[in-house]
Amino acid sequence: MRFVTDGMLGRLTRWLRLLGHDVVYLKDVIDTELLEVAKEEGRILLTKDVALFKKAKKQSMESHLVDGKNEIEKLANIAEHYSIKLNVDVTISRCSTCNSPIREVKKSEIERKVPSTTFETYHKFWICNGCGKIYWQGGHWNKIEEILTKTRMMLKIKNL
Ligand SMILES: [Zn+2]
Repeated sequence: MRFVTDGMLGRLTRWLRLLGHDVVYLKDVIDTELLEVAKEEGRILLTKDVALFKKAKKQSMESHLVDGKNEIEKLANIAEHYSIKLNVDVTISRCSTCNSPIREVKKSEIERKVPSTTFETYHKFWICNGCGKIYWQGGHWNKIEEILTKTRMMLKIKNL
């Protein structure tokens, strides 16, 4: 899905990109600009700002007022609202930093671009088509899976 997120949703933005969604994150901009980008690019506006949400509704724009105190609650809230799958499929993941698509690269292409221990330990790598950031499923991957599992459990309990 295509979203635009406001300055308060930085971490949530990274989660949605990882899950394969196209998210423009606008920090330090005025409401008018957020609304314009959403309208011009046909994006759903995600916000925690009630006033901004009301403005979007007033202009008949698709917008969602994100609920939740932490990342898991926020992610669960959006996943439920838009039926978003909480599984990472790296073939559709986007760069968490710049939102560009990422692609798998041959190991030889990234030699010396990652720490040597990382290069020796892992066999699959991805690179961002935009900013060149390199990804691998390292130790932090367990943390990602853990948070997604917790989010799925939260939704399950809620819908019992
Ligand atoms: Zn990037």
